[in-house]
Amino acid sequence: MQGSWSNWSGWVKAWPREIATPETEADLQRVVREAEGNVRVAGSGHSFTALVQTNGTIVSLQKIAGLLDVDDEHERARVGAGITIRDLGPLLHEKGLGLINQGDIDRQAIAGAVGTGTHGTGGTLGSISSAVRGFRLVTAGGEVLDCNSDVNADIFDAGRVSMGSLGIMSEITVQCRKAYALEEKGGRMPVEEVFARAPELRDSNRHFEFFWFPFANEVLTKTLNETDRPVRPRNRLPDGADASEDKLFRQFCEIARHVPLLRGPLQKFITRASSSRYAGSEGKAYWSYDAFPSDRNVRFNEMEYAVPAEKGIDCVREVAEHMRRCGVNFLFPIEFRYVGADDAWLSPFYHRASVSISVHQYHRQPYADLFRGIEEIFRRYEGRPHWGKLHTLGASELVALYPRWDDFIALRRRLDPNGKFLNQHLRRVFGES
Ligand SMILES: Cc1cc2nc3c(=O)[nH]c(=O)nc-3n(C[C@H](O)[C@H](O)[C@H](O)COP(=O)(O)OP(=O)(O)OC[C@H]3O[C@@H](n4cnc5c(N)ncnc54)[C@H](O)[C@@H]3O)c2cc1C
Repeated sequence: MQGSWSNWSGWVKAWPREIATPETEADLQRVVREAEGNVRVAGSGHSFTALVQTNGTIVSLQKIAGLLDVDDEHERARVGAGITIRDLGPLLHEKGLGLINQGDIDRQAIAGAVGTGTHGTGGTLGSISSAVRGFRLVTAGGEVLDCNSDVNADIFDAGRVSMGSLGIMSEITVQCRKAYALEEKGGRMPVEEVFARAPELRDSNRHFEFFWFPFANEVLTKTLNETDRPVRPRNRLPDGADASEDKLFRQFCEIARHVPLLRGPLQKFITRASSSRYAGSEGKAYWSYDAFPSDRNVRFNEMEYAVPAEKGIDCVREVAEHMRRCGVNFLFPIEFRYVGADDAWLSPFYHRASVSISVHQYHRQPYADLFRGIEEIFRRYEGRPHWGKLHTLGASELVALYPRWDDFIALRRRLDPNGKFLNQHLRRVFGES
């Protein structure tokens, strides 16, 4: 099938020779073997970087997307790599299981989330990639490799976070846990108080994060903790349908875009108004798969770096200061999350407990001027970029950030000597001509 492809923000577009939607692993092997030119596999297109862009073949695994089986003893699930996190949640729940942690949204394909080190928050909780216990990989030659900590262990360690550059995962085995419910609480907190209490709030909650509109002197906190309270069903809107808050926030974005002077007052107002959803002593209780995701319908572009956990507060303070002073117009808040260390070679959290700091720009405003100065700050804090979010780093900078970088590059060249799975973006990232 021919057609065009676009990522979620609309800023990355592609006109590939073919968009292939194989229905079986054998089909996928044939697509890879017979493809002319480059092959890039897409999840749900929620990365901001040009990971999927190619004029060769884009492969979508939306038809290889079921819950294949469950290992009750080890609380693991084997899934088709194209299943979205949103579809997986209720299927796991029927089997008495839940994912250990999730990010802000659940629209991603599981393999897409795994491929970039997608994460939620939690002091000792790792990324979604860190819950992977094995995968099957279709390589450039069309063979299938089983990869786990016993078999093809080096490909397992390199492949868990590899942006579709080693091959295409057809199946993934994910570590889950017993199904659980989470209670959401939150509110406003003065900036200096959250800075002083952040480690305590990280340690006393299963999930703690905060959002900071840099012109406000309070932040919005959010916690999720396990609960035995009765669970409510959550009315999720269909894909792309706006909630009333989305409509309002989009209007604020438009106002701030046209009248930059209003961005400060609006940020303060939104901080005050948003905390009202937490009014009352009891939080809302949902099954985990309903509790984690928010619907994000106001489109934006995003940069995110993971910095050493103990430097997170100093870093976010500098980032906000820069955003207030740089003169670039923006409205979105900074997001601050803790992520546990893991051991995938290219994980931003490789052997390092981290704080992830994300900055956003409304999709109808240019982002480069805003993100450039912030990236300089992240780099001074030894930050590692989120692979799915905007950054400008290439191999010569990345090699210093990732102890197993050279091993990854060598293994990638061995598996894919002709660069079938590389596009322009990945050639820059990996330093391949
Ligand atoms: C609104 C929004 C909210 C977000 N929230 C968070 C968040 O809370 N936390 C966070 O960490 N990130 C977040 N992200 C970023 C997002 O989770 C990542 O960019 C993720 O990779 C997107 O998944 P996807 O399924 O859309 O994959 P895509 O963006 O389509 O692809 C991502 C990468 O995975 C590779 N890939 C896809 N399928 C396969 C496969 N079968 N085998 C091998 N490689 C594969 C692709 O080639 C590509 O390199 C958010 C993004 C948006 C737009």
